[in-house]
Order: sequence, then C-alpha cells, then structure tokens
Amino acid sequence: MGYTVKIDKESCLSSGRCVAVAPRGFGFDDDQLAEVLPGAASLPDERLVAIARSCPASAILLFDQADNEVDPFGLID
Ligand code: SF4
Repeated sequence: MGYTVKIDKESCLSSGRCVAVAPRGFGFDDDQLAEVLPGAASLPDERLVAIARSCPASAILLFDQADNEVDPFGLID
C-alpha cells in the first residue's frame, strides 16, 4: 500500500471521471485540469489503480514508496 498519485496535466482531458468517482481524492484546478486532493492519500491502492485505469488519457500516474512509477495495467488481470 501507500501509492502516491500525480496528474500529468499535459495529458488530462478534463473528462472529470476521476473527480466523479473519488471527489475527495481528485478535483479540478483553475484550468479545469485534474489535481490530486489530500483525500487521495486515504484511498486504497486497489482503488487508485482502478481510477488510473479508468482515466481516458492515462493521465493519473501512480508511484510506489520507492518513487517508481507503477503500471496500473500490469497489476490486475
Ligand atoms: S479521469 Fe483523467 S482525463 Fe479525466 S479529469 Fe481525471 S485525470 Fe483528467
């Protein structure tokens, strides 16, 4: 557990999917691009993986505790 989340704002399409499914973890900045909110820290890794997978732009980036990027499509079959 303990993944951290970052948004690739250059890729975000402002679809709002992450905000809709996890409003405590994701919001919009002033440019209507997704941003990570403090609540993301309390989301289970499995949930973060599912949210990252559902992003149409693959703009939700996950990192493990060693700060290595995690491939959300490599974890769940
Ligand atoms: S789901 Fe992806 S594209 Fe949609 S708002 Fe979130 S980060 Fe941006």
